[in-house]
Amino acid sequence: MKENSGKVYLIGAGPGDPGLLTLRGKSVLEKADVVVYDRLVSPAILGMCNPKAKMVDVGKMPTHHKVKQSEINKLLVQFASEFPGGVIARLKGGDPFVFGRGGEEALELVAAGVEFEVVPGITSAISVPAYAGIPVSHRGIATSFHIITGHEKAESSSNVIPAPTDVIPAQAGISSAPVGLDFPALAHCPGTLIFLMGIANMDFIAKRLMECGKDPKTPLAFIEKGTTPYQRTVMATLETAAETIVRENVTAPAITIMGGVVELGKTLAWKENLPLSGKRLVVTRAAKQASGITARLTALGAEVIETPMIETRTLECPLVMASPEGARQSRPADFNSLANFDILAFTSTNGVESFFNQLLASGNDIRILAGKKIASVGKITEKKLLEYGIRCDYVPEDHTGEGLGKLLASLIPQSTEGATSYPIPRILLLQGNLADDTLLKHLPQATRWVVYETLPVVELPEWKREAVASADAVVFASTSAVENFVKLMPQGTAGVPPYLKATNGSAPIPQTSFCIGRMTESAARKHGFETVTSDETTMDSLVKKIAEFYSK
Ligand code: SAH
Repeated sequence: MKENSGKVYLIGAGPGDPGLLTLRGKSVLEKADVVVYDRLVSPAILGMCNPKAKMVDVGKMPTHHKVKQSEINKLLVQFASEFPGGVIARLKGGDPFVFGRGGEEALELVAAGVEFEVVPGITSAISVPAYAGIPVSHRGIATSFHIITGHEKAESSSNVIPAPTDVIPAQAGISSAPVGLDFPALAHCPGTLIFLMGIANMDFIAKRLMECGKDPKTPLAFIEKGTTPYQRTVMATLETAAETIVRENVTAPAITIMGGVVELGKTLAWKENLPLSGKRLVVTRAAKQASGITARLTALGAEVIETPMIETRTLECPLVMASPEGARQSRPADFNSLANFDILAFTSTNGVESFFNQLLASGNDIRILAGKKIASVGKITEKKLLEYGIRCDYVPEDHTGEGLGKLLASLIPQSTEGATSYPIPRILLLQGNLADDTLLKHLPQATRWVVYETLPVVELPEWKREAVASADAVVFASTSAVENFVKLMPQGTAGVPPYLKATNGSAPIPQTSFCIGRMTESAARKHGFETVTSDETTMDSLVKKIAEFYSK
């Protein structure tokens, strides 16, 4: 092997659902210096890659120029020499060695003396039927299954998807027909037949199979965009296969599965019945906080594109800001001065995490909080505090900053005639640099420590812009997320942002946004979104609302 060369990993990305990427694949992507990817790879998987990695798209959409296989091979060798000791991830749909040309790429790497490793992926051949409720083998029905290419071509593009002919069946060129297949053997084979890349040539394939004696009534299913939110199953029989493709406009990527097992799909289909199946949602929360909502939405069948609008950064040490006007004269806080406060108020999970990190870094621990009362803006922050062994004394019923301000203000005795019988609680607010002044308005005597900084994301990579552009709706949890989103995805004419247009160029899709909190809602409305707002300011409540919205 060459010294001073990078290592190439041929990684299977699975069929579409990002949850079907292997742990090994994910860990390589997280440390990749370069990611060379195909068009079938889900944006959510691209989102898992090292954010500093160079992203190289070699599988543009069918109508665009695609990088030829021979060029991809060269690219991999070239990156290996450009990144000595580096990690070059070659990310391919499904499994790299199942009609994925992974073998060809590996041979080229061996010839060039480049070290490589294969990270298998879940092939669409088996997983896509599974997501349609079709087991490829089943006792008493099929004792074998066979994965067959429905397309033969000498040199083609990166991912061997026979586009554009696969997309327009009527124009299917017979030149790509799999004439070399042993049709008599396939026709007499009692097992399940699974064709990849077979849509464009299905007329030819079905005819040949029937000519060779396969029962024209053999059940068959086309499964389009399997495991993605857009999965669709179309059932037919061998004799109606070709006409069904045209009538139902079955398009690539799709697999064709033939045999008795197909009937089971009528009973076992599960994916297409999920409440959020077919929905692609953009979650604009900061990465750290997005995972909870992402998991819940994904479990309901949605595809989630995590697109944080802000990045938060814990400050090395808290900064004291006495009042909004004092913002410019901030100075480092001293943890010993915590002794001067009776109530600590937290308004976000970030605030909690940052504060406790700083507290520990300063050489203190939670004993310094002994005897203090703790307030939280809502349930999520309250739960975060529990992780640090702290129970909250005050949580407003409405989970808003306003509510917290009023609740804490009610603890302060009104200074009327005569001395108060109990001391005025001294309040410390632990917030981010962008926190608004709601709390300070209600609590003018409070002190504010800024424990973390919020920096807006200023640019989205192209692949992410494309993914966001094709989404059904956007989830907002703060006004700043709305404002920044609108900046990143500029408005189109007539108030319809271009990202809200369906990618196929047809009518604009509804400008739906799902919002947490009334302030977020009004910010979204101001920018022309239709809004659906959760009843409570919790993720559970929002997820429930989203599911209800789409079940209508
Ligand atoms: N290496 C891939 C196959 C590459 S060939 C794998 O193991 O899955 C590309 C073909 O795979 C497509 O034409 C289609 O037939 C099939 N395919 C890939 N992803 C698919 C998906 N999500 N749904 C349906 N078919 C898919």
